[in-house]
Amino acid sequence: TSATSSHLGGIQVAPPDAILGLTDAFKADKNPDKMNLSVGVYKDASGQTPILRCVKAAERHLVETEATKGYLPIDGGPDYRDHVRTLVFGSEIDSTRVCVAQTPGGTGGLRQAAAFLADQMGPTRVWIPSPTWANHKAIFASEELPIEEYRYLADDKKSLDAAGMLEDLRTRSKPGDAVLLHACCHNPTGVDPTLSQWKEIASVVSEKRLLPLIDFAYQGFGTGLEEDAKSIAEILSQVDEAFVCSSFSKNFGLYSERVGALSIVSADAKTSVSVQSQMKRLIRCNYSNPPRHGAAVVAAILDDADLTTMWHDELNQMRTRIKDLRERFVTTMKSTGAGHDFSFLLDQNGMFSFSGLNPMQVDELRNEHSIYIVGSGRINVAGMSENKMEQLCGAVAKVIEG
Ligand code: PLP
Repeated sequence: TSATSSHLGGIQVAPPDAILGLTDAFKADKNPDKMNLSVGVYKDASGQTPILRCVKAAERHLVETEATKGYLPIDGGPDYRDHVRTLVFGSEIDSTRVCVAQTPGGTGGLRQAAAFLADQMGPTRVWIPSPTWANHKAIFASEELPIEEYRYLADDKKSLDAAGMLEDLRTRSKPGDAVLLHACCHNPTGVDPTLSQWKEIASVVSEKRLLPLIDFAYQGFGTGLEEDAKSIAEILSQVDEAFVCSSFSKNFGLYSERVGALSIVSADAKTSVSVQSQMKRLIRCNYSNPPRHGAAVVAAILDDADLTTMWHDELNQMRTRIKDLRERFVTTMKSTGAGHDFSFLLDQNGMFSFSGLNPMQVDELRNEHSIYIVGSGRINVAGMSENKMEQLCGAVAKVIEG
């Protein structure tokens, strides 16, 4: 059929998702020693992405007690929303200023935030860090929001270009622009501002009257649940309004259940009522209302003191294991004698780090050693394993030495 007589015949093949495409290649690879350090999921020592014990317990409880699969409210259940508000903002915040909507994952939260900016405020120009999670650009572009980049990673590819970031926001942004910030565990670099740098960022956001749009996909993976929220508290100590997109994919291991939230903080309760109503209107014509199961699991855990303690323990284990893998990688790389110091990985947070490997070295790792990492050199540290560390470091040493 020619494109002129067919409605669909002229459609071109879209490029595959850069990261999920790598997973397809990984699955097809026959090498038994292959390693996937690309996609951002946590793996335990046996290479599995486990269901947390607290989640299993909550699910058993739900099977016994859940009475309906009727629709949830457009913005999710009130119990879940209260828990999200406390996790993100602590118990001190005036709850009448915060409206929370349960969303399908952190991605759903970001997309609803973008829809809100496009529909109610704009279209607002959005500043994103360079680099950032690849999906950020696509999400804001889908709502036709203009996008600008601010400097983030320094030229050494290991540290924050704080001066560049502050200068870009101070001199290039205009009042009313939104600025996307990663609250902790910056993806893809693992490089986070210190608390005193957050103070400076908050000052610029306040001076320039920018709207903070905070991506909080890794709460608990940096230093701890409360510690990781300090960046948000710092911002809110200097400005009255903010958007926060939470994801419970990583910290509850609920990836495929699609559990997240969009919280919008307003200056006063009256504004918050209007904001909540518009947020609901926008959700209604998108996915109508959120899925029940994952959010019910989260709420069941946070409603129960024992399950909450169990969750804290399991989250701490994931976080400390990743830190331990960072240390093992650095010391094992030292012992290869490859002469490349990776100790900067120890200063970085969360699942990811920029390894500094160039695209040629990344290709060679894949082609010669069946080790899959993203072309930018981003490594998912949480995908490493203790028993394959020698193999990994040996291969990295080989590609570095050329
Ligand atoms: N934001 C960042 C920075 C992420 O890394 C991710 C997941 O990889 C998300 C948002 C989205 O998370 P979810 O899977 O909950 O949609």
